[in-house]
Amino acid sequence: MDKQTHSFQAEVKQILHLVTHSLYSNKEIFLRELVSNASDACDKLRFEALDHPQLFEDQPDLRIRVSFDEQARTVTISDNGIGLSAEEAIAHLGTIAKSGTREFMAKLEGDQKKDANLIGQFGVGFYSGFIVADRITVESRRAGLPADQGVRWSSEGTGDFEVEAITKPSRGTDVVLHLREGEDEFLKTWRLKSVISKYSDHISLPILMRAEEWDADNAKQVLKDEWEPVNKASALWTRSKSEVTQAEYDAFYQQISYDTEAPLAFTHNRVEGRSEYTQLLYIPAKAPFDLWNRDKRGGVKLYVKRVFIMDDAEALMPVYLRFVKGVIDSADLPLNVSRELLQESRDVKAIREGSTKRVLSMLESLANSEDAGERDKYARFWTDFGQVLKEGVGEDHANQERLVKLLRFSSTHADTGVSLADYVSRLKDGQDVIYYITADSLSAAKNSPQLEIFRKKGIEVLLLTERVDEWMLSHLFEFEGKPLQSVAKGAVDLGDLQDEEEKKKAEEAAEQFKPVLDRLKAALEGRAKEVRVTTRLVDSPACVVVDEGDISGHLARMLKQAGQAAPTSQPTLEINPDHALVKKLGGLDAADTRFGDLAQVLFDQALLAEGGVLEDPAAYVKRVNALLLG
Ligand code: ADP
Ligand code: MG
Repeated sequence: MDKQTHSFQAEVKQILHLVTHSLYSNKEIFLRELVSNASDACDKLRFEALDHPQLFEDQPDLRIRVSFDEQARTVTISDNGIGLSAEEAIAHLGTIAKSGTREFMAKLEGDQKKDANLIGQFGVGFYSGFIVADRITVESRRAGLPADQGVRWSSEGTGDFEVEAITKPSRGTDVVLHLREGEDEFLKTWRLKSVISKYSDHISLPILMRAEEWDADNAKQVLKDEWEPVNKASALWTRSKSEVTQAEYDAFYQQISYDTEAPLAFTHNRVEGRSEYTQLLYIPAKAPFDLWNRDKRGGVKLYVKRVFIMDDAEALMPVYLRFVKGVIDSADLPLNVSRELLQESRDVKAIREGSTKRVLSMLESLANSEDAGERDKYARFWTDFGQVLKEGVGEDHANQERLVKLLRFSSTHADTGVSLADYVSRLKDGQDVIYYITADSLSAAKNSPQLEIFRKKGIEVLLLTERVDEWMLSHLFEFEGKPLQSVAKGAVDLGDLQDEEEKKKAEEAAEQFKPVLDRLKAALEGRAKEVRVTTRLVDSPACVVVDEGDISGHLARMLKQAGQAAPTSQPTLEINPDHALVKKLGGLDAADTRFGDLAQVLFDQALLAEGGVLEDPAAYVKRVNALLLG
């Protein structure tokens, strides 16, 4: 193949620009990325060699070498892994295959693009070499191809790259970084070693560097011919808990998650029994940018007997725990397990159930800890991941009871952190249901007219304002035998919470207002299915409520926004017989034209107060103005 020039895909150019301009303050990560690619390449070879042992050629010992050349000012990362064919070099080192990365790039705007933390999150990969290099040369030969089918890929990391055929007797890849001016710090053994031990100690292959020796005559270190390992080279999760330090656990987490922060919690266990496996699972401290993407695969890597099998094995974690990162190493699964096989395997089901329970225990021990610091961690977890955990209430019936105890809410009692157990511990005498309201925002919920009577009587109401809440409520009906009840559905029935006198007063009002109600109903024909007197209002003249079986106004709006057809049913208008406006309405003559206007305004205001949208806002404004003047 003659020398060819190719242009980078547009997204790659964007990444290259970002990488070289924003990651400078953290430039040493290039080594982490290139070592991780070398390690992946060895994993891939080991995996393909399961069926084709001849791929090992005469070199069965996989390893990574890191070296430098002071004169040439180059750093080389070399592996004897799977290697790249010419086509693969063009495809993999010229485009971005990972759709998540592309999506992420598209989402970043303005200043965010400069945020190295955000960029670090998705793993900048091979292109990070250009942070310190103004030219990268990759020489590679794919395992199994003849020596003359090697490839040299070379680029300055701007617009394009060159590819040509070379002869390369040894299998695998050498990545040669030609350092930029001023990057000579990486031409020192101790510097490279310290970066390797910071980020890559857990890599399960030996990472080798040339041994050094003190040359007394010239008073400097000189490189010897032998190579020596500079990492521990044992997979971290295979070591026993007592041998691993917190710092090592944290570094491993950062390596697999690209998170710049330490994890919130982790669990490391060897599980024995019907299915044998090791799990090392982490809960991040912060939500990743793509938490809301339910199609995203999970962050758990699957190994079988230390052999890496696949990333993102979604069969290992339920969707609602997609934020969990870590490693599962099975002793029972076949090495050639495919994604399809994973879905059906009973061993995998057992691993998934066991791991789900582990994660829930981890969360429970934070939430119920004696230690305020741990409980505070749970509060932080809840802020970032609570909405995702709520998905589990509907998705994971087997663990629903445990999940429900982990839920935290806002309520009229406290803005955050209210558990259902807290709520139940504060039930009023005679209260046997858990009241809640759903709304578009916390302030809309707090100011809802429907809450007035509950406030007056000091009865706590849960304020549910997240999109997932309505869905969760369709799977959650009670807690400890106490049904959950919306305060915006059906006629308010406070049961024993109301005294005899109040009940009597309400009945009298209903009787007295009968003629007004009939006229209101006629005036609101087609808008309200019913008009009735209520005791739930204290300060507001009116509110709208829906029937027990109907969907709430909040849910109807959410469905509409999502472009889904919401079943339309008219709400009921409830009026407060003690309110001056309502009294005024009652005093108006049947022939008075203002009655119709006032009725419409009352209804529109009730809709607005619960966060609804008026179909004809102009007509509303006109009527209000007429009333103001009249
Ligand atoms: P990622 O490692 O997340 O896939 P990178 O940008 O780090 O993304 O690497 C891009 C691709 O280039 C890899 O997926 C792999 O196909 C190829 N590649 C990079 N380094 C090597 C290597 N040392 N040996 C073989 N292939 C490599
Ligand atoms: Mg990589």
